[in-house]
Amino acid sequence: MLNNLTEAQVNEIVARVVSEYKKGSSAPIEQSKPWDATQYKGRKLIGIYDTMEQAIEVANAGYKAIRAMSVAEREKIITSIRNLTRAEAQIMAELGVAETKMGRVDHKYAKHVLVADKTPGTEDIVEEARTGDHGLTLTEMAPFGVVGAISPSTNPSETVICNSIGMIAAGNGVVFNPHPGAIATSNYAIDLVNRAVYAAGGPRVLVASVVKPTLDTASVMYKHPSIKLLVCTGGPGVVHAVLSSGKKAIGAGAGNPPVIVDDTADIEKAAKDIIDGCTFDNNLPCIAEKEVFVFDNVADRLISGMMKNGCYKLTREQADKLAKVVLVEKTDKNGKTVKIVNRDCVGRDCRVILEKIGISVGPEIRCAIAEVPFEHDFVQEELMMPILGIVRVRDIDEAIDLAVKAEHGNRHTAHMHSKNIDNLTAFARAVETTIFVKNAPSYAGIGFGGEGHTTFTIAGPTGEGITSARSFTRKRRCVMVDSFRII
Ligand code: NAD
Repeated sequence: MLNNLTEAQVNEIVARVVSEYKKGSSAPIEQSKPWDATQYKGRKLIGIYDTMEQAIEVANAGYKAIRAMSVAEREKIITSIRNLTRAEAQIMAELGVAETKMGRVDHKYAKHVLVADKTPGTEDIVEEARTGDHGLTLTEMAPFGVVGAISPSTNPSETVICNSIGMIAAGNGVVFNPHPGAIATSNYAIDLVNRAVYAAGGPRVLVASVVKPTLDTASVMYKHPSIKLLVCTGGPGVVHAVLSSGKKAIGAGAGNPPVIVDDTADIEKAAKDIIDGCTFDNNLPCIAEKEVFVFDNVADRLISGMMKNGCYKLTREQADKLAKVVLVEKTDKNGKTVKIVNRDCVGRDCRVILEKIGISVGPEIRCAIAEVPFEHDFVQEELMMPILGIVRVRDIDEAIDLAVKAEHGNRHTAHMHSKNIDNLTAFARAVETTIFVKNAPSYAGIGFGGEGHTTFTIAGPTGEGITSARSFTRKRRCVMVDSFRII
């Protein structure tokens, strides 16, 4: 059971979400620039402030208001957020693509419905009672107070709503410092949460944000005494910054998920699953397939299966040329030359990326694949684009060795297609990722066609894993000595 839904209802939801994901178009709506982070079509957004200090103060007042509410009342608020998210999923999907120029409207729609349906609410908060010779001890999951959350540009409104559901279900108020590149979309979602909270009897503002988020506003959040927990969803830089803040922090960082395909796998299915996962929202999800290690004796069949599923196979020369476009060199603060992803390519449609090296393809082409050596950028870098490097391997030992190296110790996500339980077990043990998906597209790992709840904050570095309401609580114990034991 999830949120009091029967298994049949959950299955129906998943079928609906998967079918929504399959239909529709990726065409973004056009909006005029510059993006206004304070209003949407003339309606002032609720919970958006000029300064981080103001945002924290108001979220703190909201937190105090929900502290006085019962769990049942809080669950009513969560239901209201779910309903409004479903109702406005299309708006947020269109806004997200239009503002960030990344991802696909139809897939973003499906992600919002998934968040509404499968993010756990108050049922995730469970208490523990222990009785014995010395009486009764209760352990309860209490709110932290106001949570400071950093959200990414890749899943902006999805993360805001998913975090809000979990953090509010746990009894917290929330302040966001959203990604500046997705500020209108993120603030729209913050306004949506506040409208839903108020409609269900909660405070006018429970979730707050700022008009112009910067590293300075993030810094105010890190240092403010009212912020008791920091939750960061983003790349390595920001996760490091949050974990260095001196406050309790949850870090959900970068991944580079490898896929292994061995010679016992259903190769046709593996080809389709990998491409479905890799191209979901144009590869923006951090869990999406980023590189493949395939046994040499089934590699040709896998590649031909991928080409039947909307792939364009690049020659090695084309792959090298494209790598120079999708990655740009930059000098870091230590004077070292580093490669960073070209933001003009992240999350773009495959045909738009291919056009940059003069290859013209139709909209049916959703992914570019290339056979490359292990050292290639298409294997080593987290591109977040529908581009997939494929490396041939001799056997399972070589596959595991290279896949573990390509994951770079992120311990984030890995995938495998195989019917050999020894191989599956060996890779799962070696790679030590938070999510390991077997014989399915990557999105099954966040409850999309797979069992289990969803999240858009996968906390590998700090160990909370697939975060949910309980991740945003602190445990408190209450001890009654020599009483309240009734036997
Ligand atoms: P990003 O790292 O560019 O930015 C995230 C946020 O951090 C933004 O608000 C940005 O302005 C801010 N920021 C960046 N550096 C900062 C610093 N030093 N101090 C304070 N704030 C800072 O993220 P993005 O490009 O939008 O997202 C993509 C990255 O996030 C990928 O690496 C992806 O794997 C990761 N991600 C992880 C998860 C997860 O659940 N583990 C989910 C989504 C995205």
